[in-house]
Amino acid sequence: MTGRPRILIVGGGYVGLYTAYRLQKRLRRAEAEVTIVDPQANMTYQPFLPEAAAGSIEPRHVVVPLRRVLRKCEVIGGRVRTVDHDRRVATIEPIEGASYDLSYDVLVMAAGSISRTLPVPGLAEAGIGFHTIGEAIYLRNHVISRLEVAAGADDPARRRAALTFVFVGGGYAGVEAFAELEDMARYALRYYPELSPPDMRWVLVEATGRILPEVSVKLAAYTVNRLVERGMDIRLNTRLDSVIDGGVTLSDGESFDAETLVWTAGVRATPMVAGCTGLPIDDKGRVVCRADLRADGVEAAWSAGDCAAVPDLSKPDDPRALCGPSAQHAVRQAKQLADNIVAGLRGGRPKDYVHAYAGSVASLGLHKGVAEIYGVKLRGFPAWFMHRTYHVSRVPTLNRKARVIADWTLALFFRREVVSLGQLQMPREDFRAAAGAPPPGRPSEPHTG
Ligand SMILES: Cc1cc2nc3c(=O)[nH]c(=O)nc-3n(C[C@H](O)[C@H](O)[C@H](O)COP(=O)(O)OP(=O)(O)OC[C@H]3O[C@@H](n4cnc5c(N)ncnc54)[C@H](O)[C@@H]3O)c2cc1C
Repeated sequence: MTGRPRILIVGGGYVGLYTAYRLQKRLRRAEAEVTIVDPQANMTYQPFLPEAAAGSIEPRHVVVPLRRVLRKCEVIGGRVRTVDHDRRVATIEPIEGASYDLSYDVLVMAAGSISRTLPVPGLAEAGIGFHTIGEAIYLRNHVISRLEVAAGADDPARRRAALTFVFVGGGYAGVEAFAELEDMARYALRYYPELSPPDMRWVLVEATGRILPEVSVKLAAYTVNRLVERGMDIRLNTRLDSVIDGGVTLSDGESFDAETLVWTAGVRATPMVAGCTGLPIDDKGRVVCRADLRADGVEAAWSAGDCAAVPDLSKPDDPRALCGPSAQHAVRQAKQLADNIVAGLRGGRPKDYVHAYAGSVASLGLHKGVAEIYGVKLRGFPAWFMHRTYHVSRVPTLNRKARVIADWTLALFFRREVVSLGQLQMPREDFRAAAGAPPPGRPSEPHTG
């Protein structure tokens, strides 16, 4: 123990990284020590996941190594299992070894969110989310592998199933992933003379009457029209009923086979948060916060981002309005949160988080996009350019900005990368076979003789 108060940050995503970064910049050495815990060693810049999946950005360039950026903080690789705020103790499960307790003085809960799923039969077995860099890389490899399978398939039904890609959920994450991957697959088809774009079927299933709730109805309708013009199938007011043995059934009665099902129907707070004792939790499992980002009615506990219910003061007409789960809020809240902690340590008063929503930008493939910034609507190339400019200005560290710009610049001069590194999913298979081991999951042959 150093004798200094410990600020414990649970989660090293947007909120965790930006809070720790600002604290290390602003705090004097004797004022406090900052400890950040995350099972992953990197913060993921999620808005770039669709472009990483589509091969426009190298996946390593959309993650920011915590240890490199947070030199003055203690970084612990592990998962916080429980927090007992009454006792000021968190139980940490390290990447390896037994769990242990860590005492702290000030808590920042920044554990973010996970995919919000529904009890759809077969979903857990057949679906994949789009929330992590691992999922983005997997999907890219998987989509290209389906082109490979279809190119070699004699059976038209098998070929059709391999080339049918279903996405469920039409928020910006879902729409961007859907549009970017289709764009990449369409481009890749030039290397598969056996296949042509009409052979592919891309289906977006959305339970409500519109997609992209973050932009105006007009811009959302424009997006639907552009996607339909590309031959994509957009099902509004439709739900996924089941996905069993490769067969997808929709609530409009249609059934078909598909070998890809991506679930992008929103997020919910990381479940660990709801189990924290001593913190106020709402019915959606988020920390109930005051506008200054303190956990409501609790001393020395703060929260922000996707796992926090923070009042949205930009809507004075609606006192119950809460900030939505977005990177925009997460980054700005983190800065305010860090400033409020510093103010508290120095005997000052915390300030409320006030931020008007700036708008939304979405990429729909190379040179295509939609954007609505401070009420100004953009479409096509200008929106796509705005998307890139905005996000490169937001991705943390100069190092990552330079690498992302370099990826885009190289893509201008060389053709798009359509390499599938599917072997990453099972890297030991060849060596195991060479060494005479049975394939994974199969018991070893009994020895004879
Ligand atoms: C594909 C995609 C595209 C998006 N595009 C946009 C966009 O264009 N614009 C926009 O504004 N927003 C966008 N978002 C939303 C935005 O990324 C999130 O709102 C933002 O990441 C929330 O930040 P956070 O810090 O709350 O959570 P996160 O960034 O998810 O960080 C949470 C961290 O907590 C860690 N953690 C979880 N459980 C524990 C535990 N028990 N112990 C320790 N650590 C834990 C996780 O490993 C993670 O690192 C997008 C999201 C996705 C998935």
